[in-house]
Amino acid sequence: MEQTSTTAAADLPPIPEASGIFAQPSALPFQAPDFSAIKDEDYQPAIEQGIAIKLAEIAHIAGNPEAPTFANTIEAMERTGQMFGRAYAVFGQLVSANTNATLDAADTALSPQIAAMWDAIYLNEALFARVKAVHDAKDTLDLSEEQAMLLETTYADFVHRGALLDDAAKEELRDINSRLSSLQTSFNQSLKEATNEAALLVETREELSGLSEAQIAAAAKAAKERGHEGKFLLTVQNTTQQAQLAVLDNRQLREKLYLASITRTSHGGEHDTRATVREMVSLRARKAALFGEDNFASWQMYDRMVDGPAGALDFLNAMVPALADTQGREAQAINERIAQDGHNFTVEPWDWPYYAEKIRQERYDLDESAIKQYFEVDRVLEDGVFYMANKLYGVSFEKRDDIPAYHEDVSVYLVRDKDGSDLALFYFDPFARPSKQGGAWMSNFIEQSHLLGDLPVITNTQNVAPPPEGEPALASFDDVITMFHEFGHALHGMFADQQYPSLSGTNTARDWVEFPSQFHENFATIPEVLRNYARHWQTGETIPMELVEAIARARKFDQGYAMGEALTGALLDMDWHHLAAGQTPENVEDFEAKALENLDLHTELVPPRYRSTYFSHIFGGGYAAGYYSYLYTEMLHHDAYDFVAQNGGMTREMGERIRDTFLSRGHSRPYEKMYRDFTGRDPQVEPMLKARGLMEA
Ligand SMILES: [Zn+2]
Repeated sequence: MEQTSTTAAADLPPIPEASGIFAQPSALPFQAPDFSAIKDEDYQPAIEQGIAIKLAEIAHIAGNPEAPTFANTIEAMERTGQMFGRAYAVFGQLVSANTNATLDAADTALSPQIAAMWDAIYLNEALFARVKAVHDAKDTLDLSEEQAMLLETTYADFVHRGALLDDAAKEELRDINSRLSSLQTSFNQSLKEATNEAALLVETREELSGLSEAQIAAAAKAAKERGHEGKFLLTVQNTTQQAQLAVLDNRQLREKLYLASITRTSHGGEHDTRATVREMVSLRARKAALFGEDNFASWQMYDRMVDGPAGALDFLNAMVPALADTQGREAQAINERIAQDGHNFTVEPWDWPYYAEKIRQERYDLDESAIKQYFEVDRVLEDGVFYMANKLYGVSFEKRDDIPAYHEDVSVYLVRDKDGSDLALFYFDPFARPSKQGGAWMSNFIEQSHLLGDLPVITNTQNVAPPPEGEPALASFDDVITMFHEFGHALHGMFADQQYPSLSGTNTARDWVEFPSQFHENFATIPEVLRNYARHWQTGETIPMELVEAIARARKFDQGYAMGEALTGALLDMDWHHLAAGQTPENVEDFEAKALENLDLHTELVPPRYRSTYFSHIFGGGYAAGYYSYLYTEMLHHDAYDFVAQNGGMTREMGERIRDTFLSRGHSRPYEKMYRDFTGRDPQVEPMLKARGLMEA
């Protein structure tokens, strides 16, 4: 096509000149961020400049006098905002993994600017008119599979955010979004306060029988900090069940703590969230109606792997019979254990963790500190995680001390592909520290993209307890599994082979993205891998296989409860988001009680992991009509690993198949197609039920 005219460009804003350290890609290998030169003060101006540049670039696409094409509109959008992306990716990792007052202040200042940037893009009518023109003509275009996917996802994202609505509906949508955003903030603030206030003050040490000395000391300290010196404060975490309930001998105290937990946000007063919940579900239903959808779930689930709300419900309900059976057996075992102690009551929710823990100790007796001696962190990484990656995919790793990291604990590795070519750069940040938020995650400093010529630069961050001075760093068994999990995300990013950054690597749906990570957890415990990394740090002895089997057996214990609380949470989420506009229930607790009653599960003994009034995933976070995803990706990974186990296990041939069918594909293909390409069939729920001990293996 001939370049006809640039005259109209005179009406367009000039693209601002970039300056500062993030103006250009760094000169380090892989364009790695140069932490020897970046200062904390550099991020905010760089990101603000990046936003201004991106918006000007978008204005040029929207105002292009040429007729819209895939290249000058859809693909052109993929090239925008490179400085923003470069600075914000690094900032995002640092503000999570190594923050300070400067970075926190920048985060507060930047959040609304970034939200406004996305609104300005998705509500830009001239831009959407071009996107729609290209999409309307899609059948006449000669697009690759990935280009067709990019066109569909770009168009769908605009539609999902309201681009097709008329002006009155757009106006109402803006009001609803703004109100929902304040309600979400208010829900989170109330929940935080209410959870603090739900802490239970205990008068005497005798009542705390069962807690360890360290737990009692922590309770005494917590009481003192709140002005109750000499007493004890049991703090509450944001789940229905509380850790202390597994050990507290005093049944009345257990009941009190349990009730404090489940009523924290529903006993009246300023932190009661019931009105917020009602208003949120009502506004969400109204919002869905603006889009012509039956309910919020069907609006929300537009980009998922499962086929809408019905697909999620079919999946969840398929687990109910096996789960109900298991819960029944577990309750019976607990009642027998209660009788054995000479009591004449039957189990209540506040008793369940206590007696389950007794049975667990009697049956399995695992010594966590003895297990840890076999898991030296560096060995787990290099002889476990990297070993698995080499056996499956032929990739190799070289430690690079010459590439600067953002903290002395972080190691940097160059990852080479099977043919020796450069594949990725990998940063590993293992230890907890005050500047790091909790949990574990993978992130990209740079996302793979052929369009931009970028290779992936990836981080894994964890919170392993730092070693005492002069001692080796040892991981718990859970830490080890998390290392394999996060590296599964890392591989999803490293093997990405996409033209377009927004379809690359882990840029995938909520009910897909945890599949590759959970899938790689399976390799942590196969004998060939374990023998290579699980060696006693002093004697060099390989971990005894009986110990490994005992760990595996213990992990199948009490799964009727563990899976039950997750499943009822997922179903409760779907119930709230199946309401039609104008059908808001009068009473939150009645609605919840009815929803739980309708399940063929022992919900009176196994309540949801979160009750509605403190279900922060769905009312305070991004998981509305999405809590099922945790179980869904778990189902996928057990089923996929079942295929691996039945087809030769951890071989190079299997690795090639994994890489070719889904691990390198990002979102360039439909999820269900990638899955079927790998296993040759649709996913089945049975392998998960067997792995969880809910079905005979
Ligand atoms: Zn994950």
